[in-house]
Amino acid sequence: MDPQWKETPRLVMGGGSNMLLLDDYDGLVIRMNIRGIEHRISHNDVFVEAGAGEVWNDLVNYCVAHQYAGLENLSLIPGSVGASPIQNIGAYGVELKDVFASCRAFEIASGTFKTFTKADCGFGYRESVFKTELKGQYIITCVKFHLSLIPNINLRYGAIEQELQNRGISTPTIKDVSQVVSHIRVSKLPDPSTIGNAGSFFKNPVIDKDTFNRLHQQFPNVVNYPAGDGLVKLAAGWLIEQCGWKGKTVGNTGTWKNQALVLVNHGGATGTEIYALSSQIIDSVYTKFGVSLEREVNIIS
Ligand SMILES: Cc1cc2nc3c(=O)[nH]c(=O)nc-3n(C[C@H](O)[C@H](O)[C@H](O)COP(=O)(O)OP(=O)(O)OC[C@H]3O[C@@H](n4cnc5c(N)ncnc54)[C@H](O)[C@@H]3O)c2cc1C
Repeated sequence: MDPQWKETPRLVMGGGSNMLLLDDYDGLVIRMNIRGIEHRISHNDVFVEAGAGEVWNDLVNYCVAHQYAGLENLSLIPGSVGASPIQNIGAYGVELKDVFASCRAFEIASGTFKTFTKADCGFGYRESVFKTELKGQYIITCVKFHLSLIPNINLRYGAIEQELQNRGISTPTIKDVSQVVSHIRVSKLPDPSTIGNAGSFFKNPVIDKDTFNRLHQQFPNVVNYPAGDGLVKLAAGWLIEQCGWKGKTVGNTGTWKNQALVLVNHGGATGTEIYALSSQIIDSVYTKFGVSLEREVNIIS
């Protein structure tokens, strides 16, 4: 609210794990550091409220340790609690919206706080109002989650069940699920503290059934999942891999050897070089499949 900063462009940053800076940022960078985790139990419901600056995985570990079920499939996603509603983070069959109760956010223009319910947030696949119509207008300061003392173990992702079997676990606890998810993630994804990356660079494209049927005739192996309402979700990683990009290096940039959906900085690459690689990938997927990939990562220019 200080008049000195009122007209200055500003960038709110949590862990910086879902953004690509094309250049140095010419403005005010606000690093979110609001801490604290509180909980309230009512029968079997647990309401956990966490400051936006808490590390996401610390919150997951806290909940798992206290037997508060609901976040375990979202283990080891990098970043902060405050960023979790921005793109409705999701992994291994669970999305933030499944456990989201509300969040509190500061409106920059008016200097007032507002509470957003789940309905207010307009959550979709890697989407929310904070990424679309309200982009840049609010700073999320805390998030409230609706968890449960009765676990609803979600093993919809085959890899979790397989790894539990490997460990000889037939009736998993939420701790088992958290550990297995963490294990799978470490084996598949590059650690951003050793090799620069922002996780999945593109969203999985969602197309209508007619378009899918035509694609399926031409490419019978196309990886796909039902997405409701006559829609089909394609695996962006598979499409990219089919175009020969998996593990490919271009200058100091490239795609990860175990997952083509993740673009990596092998060292010294600029944001614009990574962006250029993403544009090449979008072009080649469109040329081969006629499908448009959309970037998931926030591009900051
Ligand atoms: C290895 C790896 C794996 C990943 N796996 C997954 C995954 O499985 N699922 C998934 O969904 N994502 C995944 N991601 C992406 C990332 O972890 C999430 O998007 C995470 O929520 C980003 O948190 P952050 O604090 O780092 O956000 P940042 O990168 O700091 O910010 C992301 C965006 O949110 C805005 N923002 C941040 N905090 C606030 C706030 N308090 N108020 C308002 N705006 C804010 C920023 O301005 C920016 O636009 C992965 C990333 C990496 C590097």
